[in-house]
Amino acid sequence: MPYKFYGGVHPATFKTLTSDRPIKKAPVPKRVVLPLSQHVGSPSSPTVKVGDIVKVCDVIAKPSGFISSTIHATISGTVSKILYSPTPTQARVLSVVIESQGDEDQEVKSQERKEPEASSNEELLNIIKDLGIVGLGGAAFPTHVKLSPPKTKPIDTVILNGAECEPYLTCDHRLMIEKSKEILKGLSIIIKILGVKSAYIGIEDNKLSAIYAMEKALEVSRINSPGVSIKIVTLKTKYPQGAEKQLIKSVLNRVVPAGGLPMDVGCIVQNVGTAFAIYEAVYFGKPLIERNITITGTCVKEPMNLSVRIGTILSDLVNSFGGFMKEPKKVIVGGPMMGISQYALDIPMTKGVSGVVFLSENDIEKSEESVCIRCGKCIEVCPMGLVPTTLMYHVKKDKFWEAKDLGITNCFECGACAYVCPAKIPLLDYMKFGKSKVLTV
Ligand code: SF4
Ligand code: SF4
Repeated sequence: MPYKFYGGVHPATFKTLTSDRPIKKAPVPKRVVLPLSQHVGSPSSPTVKVGDIVKVCDVIAKPSGFISSTIHATISGTVSKILYSPTPTQARVLSVVIESQGDEDQEVKSQERKEPEASSNEELLNIIKDLGIVGLGGAAFPTHVKLSPPKTKPIDTVILNGAECEPYLTCDHRLMIEKSKEILKGLSIIIKILGVKSAYIGIEDNKLSAIYAMEKALEVSRINSPGVSIKIVTLKTKYPQGAEKQLIKSVLNRVVPAGGLPMDVGCIVQNVGTAFAIYEAVYFGKPLIERNITITGTCVKEPMNLSVRIGTILSDLVNSFGGFMKEPKKVIVGGPMMGISQYALDIPMTKGVSGVVFLSENDIEKSEESVCIRCGKCIEVCPMGLVPTTLMYHVKKDKFWEAKDLGITNCFECGACAYVCPAKIPLLDYMKFGKSKVLTV
């Protein structure tokens, strides 16, 4: 029985646009742009130069620090440029461009196979590091780092995050239906590395087909072995159920302290997509060169879930989903609550992109911002127990340090406050601005 977390909202989900659409493979693109910073931490250092010929899965950049990641060629071809290029985060990032001549072999070959049971934890962590696995829930935190908590933080539980609480997105839902056994194998590797005896898979109750598929897979799986308990927890559909701290509260009734991390309460959270990527890395030696994304919205002719090579340019994908029924007025990478609006389609699909939502003029609310009427709704829904209206006043008056004292850095930018505000105050923008002022000093 799940517990309740504080606050939260119930936006319309629009998930039926794609939740019944099986994941399709997008065509291999002729060119990819691979930013050297598509993960949390320091940018990777390039190991190739312009003119080099690379094969799909070759390393093109190595980690440059403890929190960093390896990046691989996602197509075979020639390194045509290394330049600063736009990314979905709106930052211009040094990127490696690979162009195919059209006659290269683009197939992903199975590499060395490993039996996780016969491998040491160090070997498994090295595979995950060398094959560039990062969190696929959106944050893109290097997975080998997350799976190496300090000895002072003992971990007793793993939670796989299958909540997918953002409206419109369904690629995790589909993955749980189509690759349930493989996700469980990835989870078993995580369990082995962390040495835990208890794991949960949290899924919202608007994904009954995913819950059914995972339960079926769990029944026949050998990993539910004596001594290790794996349970599926059906969560209430409520945004932001999939945020780490809220998920831990809902599944374990543990509260991560302000400014703390899941490991402070003995827990590690991994996305279901990351568990699948770990499975492919360990069993088939496959680097993270492709991921699933949801392409959706009222403008899209054929909303769908696509498996795309990392670095594919969004404009090169348009034919894969049949183009547009009407002109998109807003393009959001990620979901509409936490995603980032884009100004152009010449951006690469990086490791952290879980979907692209194309919205029409009719979908966009155009109400004017007015003054705060002190209704308190933003306070009611903030899952971190913050007082967004007061924080907004401090940020407006450049009182950033007062906002810090009131906990603005605990805001994880879920957007629930802005969503409910009847005065249409862009509270989320104020939170982001205020946080940037105190976190960059
Ligand atoms: S965006 Fe920040 S302040 Fe607003 S509800 Fe979410 S956590 Fe709270
Ligand atoms: S929801 Fe909007 S109007 Fe209501 S208290 Fe918060 S900022 Fe003010």
